[in-house]
Amino acid sequence: MDCIFCKIVSRQIPSEIVFEDEKIIAFRDISPAAPVHILIIPKQHISSALEINSSNSSIVSYIIEAAARIAREEGIAEDGFRIVNNCGKDGGQTVNHLHFHLLGGRNLTWPPG
Ligand code: 5GP
Ligand code: ZN
Repeated sequence: MDCIFCKIVSRQIPSEIVFEDEKIIAFRDISPAAPVHILIIPKQHISSALEINSSNSSIVSYIIEAAARIAREEGIAEDGFRIVNNCGKDGGQTVNHLHFHLLGGRNLTWPPG
């Protein structure tokens, strides 16, 4: 399968990994939108949030737990941060492998564009 995030998982594409275990991997976004911009993904290929169901949904809470830990490690927990999932064309999803953006280190405006 021609998926860049699967290739990051398998090390075919290099990335700056900040956390990894048997289920997930977290790495710095190649084009950061904030001083801290980390992508957290399941190692298993799941195309988008639309593919989340009762048999695989535990990965989502697992990722949020990891995001909170990483936020503390990155020093953005106290001031706050944002966890974002873009889904589909209008949601701005450009890579079709489920991923959550962890953004912080500056005041993030709302609403998003
Ligand atoms: P999306 O727009 O799908 O929500 O987010 C995809 C993100 O992946 C973008 O922020 C983009 O900068 C990042 N990205 C795309 N290709 C690569 C890559 O090869 N390496 C890394 N580290 N990030 C990537
Ligand atoms: Zn994939």
